[in-house]
Amino acid sequence: MFASKSIKQIATIVTVIIVLILSGCTANNMPAAPAAAKTGPSNDKEDLPEEEHTEGRSHLPAREEIALDADWKYADMAVINTGQAVMYRTKSDRKDIVIGVNAGHGTSGGEYSEVYCHPDRSPKITKGSNPAGSLKAVAVSAGMIFADGTPEADVTLLAAQSLRDSLLARGYDVLMLRDEEDVRLDNVARTVIANNKADCLVSLHWDGDGRSYDKGCFYIPVPDEIKEMEPVSRIWQEHERLGDELIKALSKKGCIIYYGRNDPLELTQTCYATIPAVVIELGNGASSREDADIAKIADGLVHGIESYYGR
Ligand SMILES: [Zn+2]
Repeated sequence: MFASKSIKQIATIVTVIIVLILSGCTANNMPAAPAAAKTGPSNDKEDLPEEEHTEGRSHLPAREEIALDADWKYADMAVINTGQAVMYRTKSDRKDIVIGVNAGHGTSGGEYSEVYCHPDRSPKITKGSNPAGSLKAVAVSAGMIFADGTPEADVTLLAAQSLRDSLLARGYDVLMLRDEEDVRLDNVARTVIANNKADCLVSLHWDGDGRSYDKGCFYIPVPDEIKEMEPVSRIWQEHERLGDELIKALSKKGCIIYYGRNDPLELTQTCYATIPAVVIELGNGASSREDADIAKIADGLVHGIESYYGR
């Protein structure tokens, strides 16, 4: 009697254990956390829509509008500041480097507003489009007109878009400071957004020198007179190293390079940039703006950026 009762008890216990094992529940096994409680980006990958799957940064969208944050250093110096830059994130072979691309000009009425030349409100030291001693400069100039009547801003936007696509294809993320015909961001706002969201900044221009032949590409050097000024003192060597790499690569691609007199300019971007930043002139009003020539320039710029980052 005792023996058969024990056998019954043992059988019951074994049955209970088997049921527990089959149901996947033991005393130490808490119910699984709901999927929404996952925090690791790699765990979220399968939950995201297809277009948001990007290597290494799956939690970030492929395209994102970026406004000027009032808390950023120098943000209060911008006067045209309500527009949006656009961040594009590459989908393959990520390098985890954000290239700021600024299509020069393209803020309607920007020439009627002014920004301080220097972030510390000190007067301009060199002469240029504004005389030495000026406290303020045009917020965004209108740009020049090509020989065929095309506004510079249209061509810089085409070149910026071509550069953006080439950079994305090579695994760079791209911050477009102007991604449309007209953006409500002045030169200070564009530089400050780049300072905070990009690793370097390349601003695209064509020179308004009025010549009847294509003078070729050059970048604007930093004037000696501002090399001790904050934040220029911390970064100007990198501005020039980036500029040198861009010109070398454009030359290798067969683009015309200008080797003549090249006056350093006290540009707003140079005075406010805290990341490597270059203003590059990709020719003048006589330059070709055919798609193939713009693509060649974009290709040269990409190779220059690759050289700058040692790839
Ligand atoms: Zn320009």
